[in-house]
Amino acid sequence: MTIGILGGGQLGYMLALAGYPLGLHFRFLDPSPEAPVGRVATRITAKFTDRGALKKFAQGLALVTYEFENVPVEAAQFLAERVPVLPAPAALEVAQDRLREKELFRKLGIATTEFAVVANRSALDSAVEQIGLPAVLKTCRMGYDGKGQWILRDAQDVSRAKDELLPERPGPATKRPKAEVPPQTVAFILERFVPFSRELSILAVRGRTGETAVYPLIENHHREGILRLSIAPAPRLEPAIQRMAEDAVRRISESLQYVGVLAIEFFEHQGRLLANEMAPRVHNSGHWTIEGALTSQFENHLRAVTGQPLGATSAIGCSAMLNLVGDVPDSSEVLAVRDAHLHLYGKRPRAGRKLGHVTLRASSPGQLASRLGELSSFFQRADFCLDAALAAQPPLRA
Ligand code: AMP
Repeated sequence: MTIGILGGGQLGYMLALAGYPLGLHFRFLDPSPEAPVGRVATRITAKFTDRGALKKFAQGLALVTYEFENVPVEAAQFLAERVPVLPAPAALEVAQDRLREKELFRKLGIATTEFAVVANRSALDSAVEQIGLPAVLKTCRMGYDGKGQWILRDAQDVSRAKDELLPERPGPATKRPKAEVPPQTVAFILERFVPFSRELSILAVRGRTGETAVYPLIENHHREGILRLSIAPAPRLEPAIQRMAEDAVRRISESLQYVGVLAIEFFEHQGRLLANEMAPRVHNSGHWTIEGALTSQFENHLRAVTGQPLGATSAIGCSAMLNLVGDVPDSSEVLAVRDAHLHLYGKRPRAGRKLGHVTLRASSPGQLASRLGELSSFFQRADFCLDAALAAQPPLRA
């Protein structure tokens, strides 16, 4: 059985690696000739909007899935006329637009950050009045890894945002976050800045028959908008918080009749969870599941879309996943640490680029903290986020 995957980055790469033992074959479509999946599978290099390429891509496939949520919905719909596309394109439509995402959260009774729609300059003033400062101005579409968002702390930031980002009237913004964004879709929301105690994410997998399995909550640390460190299961977790997250992800996946892995990111604030965003795909905060869970998110996504029984989602001990951003350590330095697992994606180094990750596994939070300490020299040299990792140690030890 050959599965088509839209997007050929590291998520696709790890999907293929998880799928080969299941007897699956893969064909990818990605606009970049450098897409990492080229190392392990057939890759068609073409724009997602190239219908000729999409037709060629679809030929003989059992189904299509995606590893990148900014695939144009029209491309997914075009393919869905030829071959099953899972998760259904409707999930992409919601996840590509922060406003629709937040409206879905609200409709399903899932708490989310307070926000106001900002279509033009004058709307920003009333949004600031409603939401207060500090606040986060976010593009509704095409934002990822902290791109397409600006923190507004004071009146000066507000007037700068008006001059540099917002159009006078509804319509195309003067400065678009990405050249390919269709003008009619460029709009912003202003979100209340949440002084959260931590960021958490949850991953669920839902099969074709509605069977759903949920992984334990994950604690995430970002720097410059990029995920640097995930700890799973999240330490110091109240069972009620896990239940809240599970309930939210189940409600969303039910309402979308979702098939595959779905990730929801939350802020933990004053004992409750506020949903920030969702990703209709396997997720960076779930990389630890390769070694740290009974079934990885990648295998479970493939089991779900191919209609197979789902695998168990329990954690094996505790895991920490460190992203290798911009630079990679000596393999021997990582592999010398007991139960450290290195994953390199074969991408060319560039500042801010995710080049690989390391998963550390341990049998207790204390052991995990000391293994994180063993890796600290590399992460400090590379100016990585070991400050976050080290900050995570006291709670890990507690
Ligand atoms: P996002 O693209 O929405 O996931 O935002 C990227 C990162 O920015 C998040 O992981 C948070 O660390 C931070 N962030 C986003 N929105 C807010 C907010 N409303 N309040 C505080 N921090 C935020």
